[in-house]
Amino acid sequence: MTAAGARVPDCLFCRIIAGELPAEVVAETERTVAFRDIGPQAPTHVLVVPREHHADAAALYAADPMLLADTIAAGVRIAEQEGVAETGYRMLLNTGAHAGQTVFHAHLHVLGGEPLGALAGGGLKTIG
Ligand code: AMP
Ligand code: ZN
Repeated sequence: MTAAGARVPDCLFCRIIAGELPAEVVAETERTVAFRDIGPQAPTHVLVVPREHHADAAALYAADPMLLADTIAAGVRIAEQEGVAETGYRMLLNTGAHAGQTVFHAHLHVLGGEPLGALAGGGLKTIG
């Protein structure tokens, strides 16, 4: 059995954190690493990842709510560092299939640098 948060050998982001795969790291804390998204969807597009492996934001929250808070706090500091805090930015935690999550190591997207448009692809759905 794997301990909660333990490194997963074939996980892309665990391998980036371990320095086995290249990434443009923009900030590090004791518990998080932030690097530029390889396919940026805005002028600033940084991913903040906890060093521990958790599959998604819900698993991260269940295992260690403070680490989720640390990840979001790191995102706020990235926005300041990237110079988008004043103009505004979006933080996203894609969780599961309908959100289009593709990498199953929890990560916070920090997007900014231009108006970002609708929150969800195709615009917001009207419920009811
Ligand atoms: P998500 O769809 O929320 O799972 O987001 C995964 C993100 O990881 C996507 O925006 C990808 O562009 C990004 N990504 C995939 N591989 C890499 C990589 N090697 N370095 C940096 N970002 C990556
Ligand atoms: Zn991982």
